[in-house]
Amino acid sequence: MATCDVCGNDYDKSFEIRRGQVIHTFDCFECAIHRLAPQCARCACRIIGHGMESEGQIYCCASCARQHGVTDVADRGDERNTIEAIGRAVQAL
Ligand SMILES: [Zn+2]
Ligand SMILES: [Zn+2]
Repeated sequence: MATCDVCGNDYDKSFEIRRGQVIHTFDCFECAIHRLAPQCARCACRIIGHGMESEGQIYCCASCARQHGVTDVADRGDERNTIEAIGRAVQAL
């Protein structure tokens, strides 16, 4: 049994996450995300994957990064668009 750092729930399935020298205790991933996950510099959503980082800012996706003026980013959404664009170009030949 341990008490969640975020909500105070004393729960038998609580777990610890260590970041650097600090050990945090949580009762669920939602509380862990609330406390530890970085927020997108544009839309403020919690970033629970890798996100993307540029000039010290972290973004949830390439779209948010671009809307903040970052130009050298791409993610899978862009990749898919690129593949679709190539497909259309090939069909046009
Ligand atoms: Zn909690
Ligand atoms: Zn965002």
